[in-house]
Amino acid sequence: MSDDLLPDSPSAALRRATLAIHGGRAHPAPGDPVVQPIVQSVNHVLPVGMPDDVLYTRYANTPNAQVVQRRLALLEGAEASLVLASGMGATACTMLSLLRPGDHLVTSAWIYGGTRKLFDQELPAMGITVTSVVPTESRAWRKALTRNTRAIFLESPVNPTTRVLDMRPISALARETGLALVVDSTFASPVNFRPLEHGADVVIHSGTKYLNGHHDVLAGVVCGSESVVDEVRQKQMVWGQTPDPFALWLLERGLKTLDVRVKRQNASALQIATWATQHPAIARVHYPGLPSHPDHALACDVLDGFGGMLALELAGGGDATGPMLERLRLITHAPSLGGVDSLVSEPRYTSHAAMTSQARAAIGIPDGFLRFSIGLEDPDDLIADLAQALR
Ligand SMILES: *Cc1c(COP(=O)(O)O)cnc(C)c1O
Repeated sequence: MSDDLLPDSPSAALRRATLAIHGGRAHPAPGDPVVQPIVQSVNHVLPVGMPDDVLYTRYANTPNAQVVQRRLALLEGAEASLVLASGMGATACTMLSLLRPGDHLVTSAWIYGGTRKLFDQELPAMGITVTSVVPTESRAWRKALTRNTRAIFLESPVNPTTRVLDMRPISALARETGLALVVDSTFASPVNFRPLEHGADVVIHSGTKYLNGHHDVLAGVVCGSESVVDEVRQKQMVWGQTPDPFALWLLERGLKTLDVRVKRQNASALQIATWATQHPAIARVHYPGLPSHPDHALACDVLDGFGGMLALELAGGGDATGPMLERLRLITHAPSLGGVDSLVSEPRYTSHAAMTSQARAAIGIPDGFLRFSIGLEDPDDLIADLAQALR
């Protein structure tokens, strides 16, 4: 139906902040609403006979889906995109589309906990084998490949350590061996990093995080070529992973401020991280924008912004976190990330609860480690909140 929205649109030539607002929508005519309306109808009237295209919410082709999918594709520099019911739905349907029983997946070991469960439990139960590699060991990727390997998966920047992976050797390997490279780019958002420009074939986002940005919608995004996205859509349709029009509308509304939000979050996180390096109660600060970060040079090279995520290690260790978290007044103790409210969480009780204290410390998450998602409050107020909580 709305195929007429794109051809006369100058979208491709526009910059990202503009695309975030106008991308994928035709210039409105007099009388049109300025805001894309929510079309909550699940089904649409069919012409009699054999239709070209049946519009149905689960098929991800109704008006709110079409607009936000075109916009996301433009933001990532992709041919096409698909919005799914959650970030996990996006990763699961992508894997279902790429892998068959007998196939093999090579993944970075440094990935989101839900993705780890999918790879450790669900894929093997379907006859798909998975090998995890420490992503910074450059030869480990090639060594992990087998005759049955079909895809490579990684996440960057990494939760919760904020490590930044060098995709160049991995994408060269994927190209050389004809494997699909799938990148979870949730932490970066297309404002800070666009994996397709660095050799990825498929980009995944938890749209729940920066893309929506307001803690009020659950969504996932897959970006790539038309053919890859269409394969994922086939899985989405039968596994029922499509969001409701209202969720799509909220995602589209959130996207309008993506560029300005992420740039402000980049600036605030850098200011807070820099302040934290001087504080005696903080033993270590993890932020890619600091020269002390192990990947700082790479981050300067490949990222357009260092992001809104940072981590602090308290000098008082595991015993110091509880009292400090109880004293915070602005920064909210809650899971998730990437929204307007600043949040803090403790990986030893959330994403990394299944590991022992020693095992966590070995991967850079000692007790006393706190993960912060910096929101849009004034950074000076956030610093004052941290300072009073650390007193
Ligand atoms: C939150 C998150 C996910 C899962 O997204 P949901 O929308 O919660 O399903 C996947 N990857 C990363 C990096 C995340 O932060």
